[in-house]
Amino acid sequence: MISFESKDVLHTNIMDYIIPAEKVAHVQPGNNLEHALLILTKSGYTAIPVLDAKYRLQGLISSPMITEAILGLERIEFEKLEHMKVEEVMATDKPWLTIHDHFRKALGLLINHPFLCVTDEEGVFQGILTRRVILKHLNYHVDQLK
Ligand code: AMP
Repeated sequence: MISFESKDVLHTNIMDYIIPAEKVAHVQPGNNLEHALLILTKSGYTAIPVLDAKYRLQGLISSPMITEAILGLERIEFEKLEHMKVEEVMATDKPWLTIHDHFRKALGLLINHPFLCVTDEEGVFQGILTRRVILKHLNYHVDQLK
């Protein structure tokens, strides 16, 4: 059975592990899909946060969401990229964390999501927590097991 100072690890505040907002690629709700696709492609990420002008979290946008939005009956309608906005396509139903949440909550949610956005109490974006970072720390603690 795995046994380690689990209380200490699992109760750690997530803010120790986040990638801060200034290092996270994002788009705004009013950007068109062409811009979003450019940012996604250039950054190499499949999904990124959507933030308003005051840095409040609005949703997430991904390359598959964009492709789906411009998919016509017989072809991909690339001309739509210029006219459709991020807010028409973004997902608004993804779970997120707040600055007071702990490792344990993040661990459960990251099973189904490669990353989670983190906001303060007012919904202002603080950064993201990735599955990679959490697994790295978990791996470190497992390595410490005698
Ligand atoms: P990773 O665990 O580093 O592969 O990141 C998982 C996912 O988190 C990526 O596919 C992106 O969707 C998102 N992500 C990670 N780092 C960033 C970043 N700096 N800016 C925007 N999104 C990111």
